[in-house]
Amino acid sequence: MANSKFEYVRQFESHDVLLPQTYIVVRVDGKKFHEFSKFYDFDKPNDIRALKLMNASAKNVVLKYKSDMILAFGESDEYSFILRKDSVLFNRRSDKLATLFGSLFTSNYVALWPKFFTDRPLDLKHLPYFDARCVLYPSLPIVKDYLSWRFVDTHINNLYNTAFWQLVLKCGMTAQESENRLSGTVSSEKQEILFTDCGINYNNEPEIFKKGSLITKKGDIIHVDVIKEIDQLFEGC
Ligand code: ATP
Ligand code: ATP
Ligand code: MG
Ligand code: MG
Ligand code: MG
Ligand code: MG
Repeated sequence: MANSKFEYVRQFESHDVLLPQTYIVVRVDGKKFHEFSKFYDFDKPNDIRALKLMNASAKNVVLKYKSDMILAFGESDEYSFILRKDSVLFNRRSDKLATLFGSLFTSNYVALWPKFFTDRPLDLKHLPYFDARCVLYPSLPIVKDYLSWRFVDTHINNLYNTAFWQLVLKCGMTAQESENRLSGTVSSEKQEILFTDCGINYNNEPEIFKKGSLITKKGDIIHVDVIKEIDQLFEGC
């Protein structure tokens, strides 16, 4: 490799290598998907095609790096990839991990789009893209709490969104009326409102909506109660 007098500029590059023997979570999240989902007329609150597309994209990421992967969990426009603590993927460089996961996820999402949105081609002015970050977790109990956090978030958001949209779509409330009706209510009250006002038993909602999606390192996509299964999910880690 020829050296030039310009080579020295490389010294300005810094590499943020992540601590060794520490769990890495790479989380990708869709950029402005609130608008994106409006533009492409996603069903509210849950567009099943969009969730399946997220899952298919994430599955390809998991399978590509399966020897480094413990599991992945996704909801809405985000996916978390949990890597083994001894992973040396990309020499544990944070910028490489985040950018490559973000772009690998995005390229899969774009390439697989027509499989799920068969009658709605992507518009060049409204392309999907995802941010990505790496977060380090120093112990298994904290990694378990991380996953539990995302799982509880899925539940809370889905219950609220399901109740909100049913009040709008089924009971003809305005967004403001629906918001007021739900304001200050706890989970059990939201379930009660859904049942009495809209005739919907929240327990019968699809598992993928209520529980999010978990991808094992083998690539199986499952919808489980993460809190109940948490120890089993990390067995041997
Ligand atoms: P940011 O760029 O900061 O992430 P955002 O608009 O993407 O902004 P998020 O908090 O990531 O905000 O929320 C994602 C939004 O995308 C949801 O609130 C919802 O409106 C929409 N969305 C994502 N997935 C779906 C889906 N499967 N069905 C319907 N709407 C969805
Ligand atoms: P890394 O993942 O570390 O970046 P790399 O294989 O991408 O590895 P680079 O130093 O980025 O290594 O080099 C890119 C290589 O891609 C070039 O050496 C060349 O072989 C190939 N390449 C890139 N663009 C073109 C092109 N337009 N035509 C032919 N070959 C190309
Ligand atoms: Mg965000
Ligand atoms: Mg987003
Ligand atoms: Mg999000
Ligand atoms: Mg290159």
